[in-house]
Amino acid sequence: MIVSLPAICQDAGISAERIRAHTRFLSSDLLEGRGVGTRGGQLATEYIATQLALAGAVGIGASGGFYQPVPLVGIETEPNATLGATAGGKSADFQWSDDFVGSSQLQRPDIRFEGEALFVGHGITAPEFHWDDFKGVDVAGKVLVVFTNEPPSTDPKFFDGRALTYYGRWTYKYEEALRHGALACFIIHTTPTASYGWDVVRNSWGKESAFVKPAPGGKALAFQGWLTRDAGERLLGLAGKHVDDLLAASEKPDFKPVPLGIQIRMHVASKIRPLDSRNVAAVIPGSDPALKDQAIIFSAHWDHLGIGEPVNGDTIYNGAIDNATGCAILLELARVWGSLPQKPKRTAVFLAVTAEEAYLRGSEYYASMPLVPLSRTAIDLNYDALYPFGRAADVVVTGAERTTVFPLAQQIAKRLNLAIAEDAQPEAGHYFRSDHFAFARAGVPAFSIGHASEFAGKPAGFGEQAYQEYNRKHYHQPSDEFQEDWDFTALAQAAEFGFLLGKDIANQDQLPDWKPGGQFHR
Ligand SMILES: [Zn+2]
Repeated sequence: MIVSLPAICQDAGISAERIRAHTRFLSSDLLEGRGVGTRGGQLATEYIATQLALAGAVGIGASGGFYQPVPLVGIETEPNATLGATAGGKSADFQWSDDFVGSSQLQRPDIRFEGEALFVGHGITAPEFHWDDFKGVDVAGKVLVVFTNEPPSTDPKFFDGRALTYYGRWTYKYEEALRHGALACFIIHTTPTASYGWDVVRNSWGKESAFVKPAPGGKALAFQGWLTRDAGERLLGLAGKHVDDLLAASEKPDFKPVPLGIQIRMHVASKIRPLDSRNVAAVIPGSDPALKDQAIIFSAHWDHLGIGEPVNGDTIYNGAIDNATGCAILLELARVWGSLPQKPKRTAVFLAVTAEEAYLRGSEYYASMPLVPLSRTAIDLNYDALYPFGRAADVVVTGAERTTVFPLAQQIAKRLNLAIAEDAQPEAGHYFRSDHFAFARAGVPAFSIGHASEFAGKPAGFGEQAYQEYNRKHYHQPSDEFQEDWDFTALAQAAEFGFLLGKDIANQDQLPDWKPGGQFHR
C-alpha cells in the first residue's frame, strides 16, 4: 500500500503542514488576537497545553498542571488624558493617541502632576563607552525628554558599531530616567530612531498594557510616554528649538542636558485591573539519571495585541506571524521530541510565555520564578515571528555567537545546508526584543532562531524586501493574518535546526556558557 506523506524534513520528521495547521488555528479570528487577560488568550493557552499533553509532555506548572500563573496589572490610560506645556507665555496642548501615548507607572486611577522639561539627549549613562548624557545634572522631579536609540557608530568598540546595544532601547530610557529620580519621561518618536513607525508605538501603548505589580515602597515614573515627531516639534518650539537640531546635538560626546524652560502639566486617569495571565510550561524528561535535572528550554510567546484600534475596519490583531508561527514550531518540536524512542539526556522544557508584547513580562516572570533552576538551565532557544515565505537558504541566530554553542550551531546549519546569516538589521536591536533576552539578562545562554534572511530560489534581497514589507505593512497591525498561500518550509527548517541543536546540547557533557568578555554572565 502506498501512503502519501505530508512534506517532511529528512531527519526529525518535522512537518511543515502541522506547523501551518497550528498557525492557522492560533491566529484565527476566534482567538481574538490572543490578548493577555482575555478569553482569546485563555483559549490559546488551553490549546497549547492540550497539544503539549498530546505530545506526551508533562505539566510543570502550579499543582502539577500546565500553567504558571503570572500576576500582572493591566493599565489602560483613559483617552481624556491631558498633556499641556507652557513656556514664556506660550502654550501647547497635545491630544492622546494623535500626539502622545504612554502610561502612568504609579498604578493609581487618577493623577495630576507638573514639572519642568529637561532634554537629556539619548538618556544614556555608559561608562564603558565614556558616554554620559546626564553630566551630573540633578534631574529629580523633572520631566525628561529624550530620543530613543544611541549615538550612531561604525566603530565596534563604540556602542558595538552599527548594532543597537541595550542602551538604545526605549525600555532602557525609562529605566535610566527612574534610576536618576526623574518624575516622568517622554521619548520623541522618529521612525529612524525607533526603527518602526508611530502606528507601532500607538498600537502597543494606546490600549491596555500589562505591567508587573510595583514592589512595596518601590519608585515609579508618574508617566512614561511617547510623543510623535510633530508633537515633539511643537513642544520644543515653545523653547525655540527643533527636533533635528537637538537630535544632532545629542549625538556629540560633549552633549549636556538642555533645560527647556517649559512647564509640563498632566492629568492622567487610568483603568487599572488585575490581569491574571499564565505561562504554559511542560517537560519531556531526560533519560540520563545524572543529567535529567538539568534542562534545555524551547520558548515562544503566545500572546499578541488582542482587539484594538480598527485599521481598514479590522479590529482583531491576529498575530499570525507574530507569534502564532513560533508557538506552532514549539508544538511541533514537542511532538517530535516526544516521539523520540531514546530521549536525550537532559530534560526539554516547552515554554509558551505570556505578555511578550507588553515587553517580555511573561519570560521575565519565568526567569524570576523559574520552574527548573536557572543554574541547571542549559540554554533557551526561542522562536518569535518566522516568515512562511518558502524554503530558507539560511538561519538567523543573532546572539548565538555570544555563547559557547556557536560552533555547534555552525555545524548543524552546515548539515542542513543552511548558511548562518548575519543580522541584517543590527540597528533594530532584535536581540533585546524577544523572550530569550529575559533569560540572557538572568545569565542563561539564550537566543532566538529567527526568520530566514534569504530564501532558496528567490532573487537575492527577497528576504530583506519581505522583512521591510512585513515591518511596514503588517507588524503589529490587524493585517498580520494567516494567508492560505503561505509556504511553511522555512519554519520546518528552523524547527529542525533548533531540534538538532537542542538535542546535541541536551546530550553534551558540559552546560553551555557565555563566551568571556560579553555583557551577560551566569
Ligand atoms: Zn510582537
